[in-house]
Amino acid sequence: MTDTFHARPATGAPGTIRQPKIAVIGGSLTGPVVALLLLQAGFDDVAVYEATPATANLTGGLIGLEHAALDVLDRLGIGQDEFVAHDSETIWQIPVRHRRPAARVRRVYPGRNTTWTLLHTALARRLPAGLLHTAHRVTGLNAPTGQPALHFTNGHTATCDLVVFADGRSSAGRRLLDPDRVLRYAGYIAHRGHAHLRAPGLRDFLRLEPGPGCQYNVAPVPGGLDWTFYLNASPAEYTDRFGAPPTRRVFALPQHVSPAARAHVDTRAQQLLPAEHAATVHATATRMAVPVMDIDPPTRMVWPLGRGHAVLLGDALAPVRPHTARGANNGIEQAAGLVAALTQHRKYRADLDAALHGWQRRHLPDAVAAVHQGPAIGARLGLGTTTGDTTR
Ligand SMILES: Cc1cc2nc3c(=O)[nH]c(=O)nc-3n(C[C@H](O)[C@H](O)[C@H](O)COP(=O)(O)OP(=O)(O)OC[C@H]3O[C@@H](n4cnc5c(N)ncnc54)[C@H](O)[C@@H]3O)c2cc1C
Repeated sequence: MTDTFHARPATGAPGTIRQPKIAVIGGSLTGPVVALLLLQAGFDDVAVYEATPATANLTGGLIGLEHAALDVLDRLGIGQDEFVAHDSETIWQIPVRHRRPAARVRRVYPGRNTTWTLLHTALARRLPAGLLHTAHRVTGLNAPTGQPALHFTNGHTATCDLVVFADGRSSAGRRLLDPDRVLRYAGYIAHRGHAHLRAPGLRDFLRLEPGPGCQYNVAPVPGGLDWTFYLNASPAEYTDRFGAPPTRRVFALPQHVSPAARAHVDTRAQQLLPAEHAATVHATATRMAVPVMDIDPPTRMVWPLGRGHAVLLGDALAPVRPHTARGANNGIEQAAGLVAALTQHRKYRADLDAALHGWQRRHLPDAVAAVHQGPAIGARLGLGTTTGDTTR
């Protein structure tokens, strides 16, 4: 057995293993959940490093969380009234023909909808002062003295016993640990918008399917409506409309949305969607876009590193297509499993390697399943291509 935690002695009960020093990379959703669970479990040498000066609303918008993830948040003391603005469980699936809605089918979602902003705010306000280090972008990782060492673009270096990479779809951790798994553009775009419109009758999530090559989702969020409009586009079209190739600009922020991109989305909405939804799109001032990406399924989540370890989780492990509605769910469930494994090690002297590999064995199949599910849903909707544009 290797005990890789060689940090400060534990101050807790006799028999517990010394406190490891844990660095969490990424301050969006998965990272703060890991950090808060670690603190709750009694790990007190935790730091979160976030690349941006202030965590930015990159992924934005509506996020459906299933019961397992909701329960993790509940156990952190984050009540749903704080991050669920509309407590509907209903998804209306609506075929659309010639811009007219056909008979709709009601589905019951085993969870609730939140938004990135509500959830991130609820998590961030619970992080103790001094835990989050913004403007710290990881670029390198090694273990020259046996202890993992992180290197940041600002010149800072931090040593630790465990590195938890929760740094999202363009993860530096994945590039360093699992470099052969590169993002491939899937051939379509999730155009997104927040319309400052009142829709008093709308409580539920609407999923409109106008036919091959298009899907439109809309739901109420605080202050208006959140919509996502999926449309096919070649890599060249993405580049023309958003200023850089999809594999480089993995989030197109409002400043990247060109007038041509805006006009294209308005035109397609006018051609494909019922008038009220086309009007919502048209009235939306601030827009974003997310190129849908694929990646080879992960084969591991844990890497030994000197006397320590590094792990990947959340979108850093496997950014899955948005239709699966599994990205944030996977990250939160993996975070809870990781902290359970580390707790068994620290509190009851479970073998650390075995605990981490047990965690991997439990969570890898779900991540792999979600990676496979995305292209299957895309194919059913006529979205995307099988060829891909790759990057490193
Ligand atoms: C349209 C759309 C709809 C979605 N719907 C759902 C849904 O219904 N249900 C669901 O579960 N998921 C959904 N998702 C996916 C969900 O948004 C993501 O899975 C989730 O945001 C991932 O969280 P994360 O914290 O792992 O990564 P991210 O949110 O990507 O955060 C990564 C963080 O790491 C930081 N970072 C990046 N690189 C570095 C570095 N080198 N050093 C330090 N910090 C770094 C970033 O700045 C960022 O703050 C959807 C996504 C989209 C686009």
